[in-house]
Amino acid sequence: MRYISTRGEAPALGFEDVLLTGLATDGGLYVPESLPHFSLEEIRSWRGLPYAELAYKVMYPFVEDAIPADDFRKMLDETYSVFSHRAVAPLVQLDTNEWVMELFRGPTLAFKDFALQLLGRLLDYVLEKRNQHVVIMGATSGDTGSAAIEGCRRCEHVDIFILHPHQRVSEVQRRQMTTVQGDNIHNIAVKGNFDDCQRMVKESFGNQSFLGGKTQLAAVNSINWARIMAQIVYYFQASLALGGPDRSMAFSVPTGNFGDIFAGYLAKKMGLPISQLVIATNRNDILHRFMSGNKYEQHQLEHTLSPSMDIMVSSNFERLLFDLHGRDGAAVKALLENAAKGPVSIEDYRWKHARKLFDSDAVDDKTTCDTIRDVYEQNEYLLDPHTAIGVRAARNCRRDSAVPMITLGTAHPAKFPDAIAESGLSVKPQLPAHMADLFEREERYTVLDNNVSEVQGFIAKHWKNA
Ligand SMILES: *Cc1c(COP(=O)(O)O)cnc(C)c1O
Repeated sequence: MRYISTRGEAPALGFEDVLLTGLATDGGLYVPESLPHFSLEEIRSWRGLPYAELAYKVMYPFVEDAIPADDFRKMLDETYSVFSHRAVAPLVQLDTNEWVMELFRGPTLAFKDFALQLLGRLLDYVLEKRNQHVVIMGATSGDTGSAAIEGCRRCEHVDIFILHPHQRVSEVQRRQMTTVQGDNIHNIAVKGNFDDCQRMVKESFGNQSFLGGKTQLAAVNSINWARIMAQIVYYFQASLALGGPDRSMAFSVPTGNFGDIFAGYLAKKMGLPISQLVIATNRNDILHRFMSGNKYEQHQLEHTLSPSMDIMVSSNFERLLFDLHGRDGAAVKALLENAAKGPVSIEDYRWKHARKLFDSDAVDDKTTCDTIRDVYEQNEYLLDPHTAIGVRAARNCRRDSAVPMITLGTAHPAKFPDAIAESGLSVKPQLPAHMADLFEREERYTVLDNNVSEVQGFIAKHWKNA
């Protein structure tokens, strides 16, 4: 399988290089040149498979040039055995034909574990084979950092440096990063805000001379193709559990950078019967505004009760735009260069096509809280604020009550106690038993000034073979 850039100018790459690359050299994102397609008969034959085995069936075509089948199977067994539920992605029923898929049974209690647990193992495998080392550098305002750290803690060929804004992430989120033990794990608390952290990461990727040519930076944000790939699997899993592929399913997906829902779109293209995909956003609703009015326009960032969806632009949306433009990289490049300067639209027939593929809704904080409260009163089931947005959008956008509607449950409610409190419920979400001592564990992090040379100096000094 070859991978090509959405902007049409970077060289095509194989899986290993795509894994290590991040952004393409032309500024685009890598996508598979073609997708595998599974017949209904083949999908049907996967009923009852354990999650890791299903993951193998769905993903192997994407990696087969790089990894022997047995090695990949073993990696998947290890990856999904760290989840705390035997079904890995269990379904919980909310109403007649309405479900939440709990994607928060991994080590950091958010769906990002599905991809990052695998990504860490993939990186180490490929680096071992090539006798190479990388430094992962990333900025986080919460979920991504902890999932990346957990995913890479056992990697021998990876050092990971995660920047977070000092005293500006929640205590649960900070502790999930800073209590992970490992010589290759480095948490840096920057005396600045999230944008400062991101700027330093970007600048460092742009000029890596501070590493002295002895290692290179790698990215683990959601533009990495391997993350999207791992998220395709659970759409198949949910469908098979509810009678697919002989009936179609609807999914509602809490969305920020468009990674998780793009995986659902790919599952459909790969042959899974999906009749509806709902984009659920918070007040940072660039995607909903585009879907409603064919205008892609950046607004100011709003801080909401669902911080993992607080974005201004949606990076993976570029991958959909590429398909909407008949995979014409030059057209995507021109469009996104204009989008950086002001609002853009696409041709009407292309936009209408997008509206056939997706429905959308934007949910504000008050409605998020109302939904948390409603569902708790209806079922004594506690939603985290991101999942609540998905459930609300599912209920607003649903087209056919005979089709199972599945909302992706992206985080455990105990990660976001403030939103639960704000919804007026007196119940306090409890951390799962295996994490109950989080507040007693020892923390390790270094506070640094908001200064890129200081941060780079720290990295240059502390990676393994420095
Ligand atoms: C990252 C995240 C999202 C958004 O996922 P995207 O792939 O960026 O759309 C939603 N909910 C939670 C809890 C997250 O951590």
